[in-house]
Amino acid sequence: MSQFIPYGRQDISEEDIQAVVEVLRSDWITQGPAIEKFERTVADYCGAKYATAVSSATAALHIACLSLNLGEGDTLWTSPNTFVASANCGLYCGASVDFVDIDPCTYNLSVKELERKLAQAKRQGCLPKVVVPVHFAGQSCEMARIHELSKQYGFHIIEDASHAIGGRYQQQPIGSCQFSDMTVFSFHPVKIITTGEGGMVLTNREDLYEKLIRLRSHGITRNPSFMEGESHGLWYYQQLELGFNYRMTDIQAALGMSQMQRLDEFVQRRRDLANRYDELLQNFPLKLPWQHPDTESSWHLYAIRLELNKITKTHREVFEELRSVGIGVNLHYIPVHTQPYYQQFGFNWGDFPQAEQYYQEAVSFPLYYGFTEGQQYQVVELLEKTLAFVKNQKIH
Ligand SMILES: *Cc1c(COP(=O)(O)O)cnc(C)c1O
Repeated sequence: MSQFIPYGRQDISEEDIQAVVEVLRSDWITQGPAIEKFERTVADYCGAKYATAVSSATAALHIACLSLNLGEGDTLWTSPNTFVASANCGLYCGASVDFVDIDPCTYNLSVKELERKLAQAKRQGCLPKVVVPVHFAGQSCEMARIHELSKQYGFHIIEDASHAIGGRYQQQPIGSCQFSDMTVFSFHPVKIITTGEGGMVLTNREDLYEKLIRLRSHGITRNPSFMEGESHGLWYYQQLELGFNYRMTDIQAALGMSQMQRLDEFVQRRRDLANRYDELLQNFPLKLPWQHPDTESSWHLYAIRLELNKITKTHREVFEELRSVGIGVNLHYIPVHTQPYYQQFGFNWGDFPQAEQYYQEAVSFPLYYGFTEGQQYQVVELLEKTLAFVKNQKIH
């Protein structure tokens, strides 16, 4: 193959470039008017009241946890089939982290398993304070049911929708926060829209929003109505809590704002390519992505499972062979609890068998806006060669 095909990448238009250049020529380049516009645009798109732009989804998850007062002695639960950031946010706050095994069809946190684990935690007096459902590959978790459980057991919900802007659940845009306290997006270049680096927290709760904007900038407020005592004058600000510099720049927000104009187009293109993969791969020894009827995925990933009983190569051999012919296949995800850093908390292989089984079979194929039908055909042909070669060996 002439050119390496990545599993994902950004698409930057002339309009995007112009939008960034305009900000560079303006008076504001750090957090300023472009941030507010970007936040309003995303909040309106999702049907949420408030949005807080920050420097990454990792930062967004961190301050989302802090705004709920997650801290020492508390527990956060998330999916093991995610990027480490979904779990690390709990550790940043001094809380403990635990996991809920995945559904073997959607690869999202299993609602059945969540129910079982909550009942057990209640008996043992160790219920979680925060649950972070991760919308894997852009497909929403079963939020209505998770929301019911949050009422029954008294936990907060932060949706990690890093993959999922532009997706829908029960007809509503992901990010509406209808079934959660907050929703987090990532604008990393491989995600659906990009700001280079960036993230956002959406919420319908004013109290959380006020906290989030303070935590993003050192815990400082310039609003006299939030201050203790009187303001000393126009220069005055007060630090009310320990915050950070997690601000996004106007340069990034201008790019994000411009990318938002094409969000629906981006998602439509990804959906078309995913449907085409479904067709082209239907007779392959693969388990293709399954979609819950309540969801419309934004298709961040096209993740399949190899049917290893039908081929003679190992998972690793298939993966390496595809890489060697220029296909940037990837693997989402190494179960978080198996990471060396997480071993100190007592986790072991075997703790979350569905996530581990999935890890041993999963491959993410290239999927992004600029991926052409020709390239997709090439990927499928090379995949057929990789897998069929083995089939032939078996048959003859
Ligand atoms: C990408 C990603 C993050 C982290 O996003 P950043 O913007 O890179 O900090 C968190 N959670 C999930 C599920 C992700 O895919």
